[in-house]
Amino acid sequence: MARDTGPQCKQCRREGQKLFLKGERCFTDKCGVERRSYPPGEHGRGRMRQSEYRVQLREKQKTRRYYQVLEKQFRAYYDKASRQDGVTGENLLRLLESRFDNVLVRLGFAASRRQARQLITHGHWMINGRRVDIPSYQVRPEDIISLKPGSTATDTIQRATELVSTVPAWLQADHDALTAKVLRLPERSEISAPVQEQLIVELYSK
Ligand code: SF4
Repeated sequence: MARDTGPQCKQCRREGQKLFLKGERCFTDKCGVERRSYPPGEHGRGRMRQSEYRVQLREKQKTRRYYQVLEKQFRAYYDKASRQDGVTGENLLRLLESRFDNVLVRLGFAASRRQARQLITHGHWMINGRRVDIPSYQVRPEDIISLKPGSTATDTIQRATELVSTVPAWLQADHDALTAKVLRLPERSEISAPVQEQLIVELYSK
């Protein structure tokens, strides 16, 4: 399974904001954006020319990095979103938000998407009683998420639950039993990703 293994703090610094890619560290003063609030690289502190294209491109890259999705897969999400009824940008965000790895983060069962992917691919989680080891699995309303009996990841997951204060209204979590239910798919207003999806639609519509 292809994945982005590049330095994560550099990705946040490139986008000029915290994307919370590293779990606990993101909430400390060791955060790369807090320590060096300028883009990485030799010309990081220089002035950058802001064309319309560049703004749209950065928004797409930021979204990709936030959800930890590679270019080809992101484009496939966009194509699928544009075929669905409704507003393409909102459809795109809903598809990304409904990925199993993202859902574990929203539920507080993983400190980061990278950790969520690892827990999923190592077979620690089940959906509706069946093991699901595909991070991109799209959750559906009424899905029941539970930890595999005998999982050795309980301590890691319980530590992650301490980082979240609220779970979005479209999900329901039991942090003691480490189970959850998908109540429905999210509305745009319930997706907290720092994304202006219209810019991505403009970029791909060119
Ligand atoms: Fe981004 Fe987290 Fe690194 Fe801060 S610590 S720069 S939020 S990945």
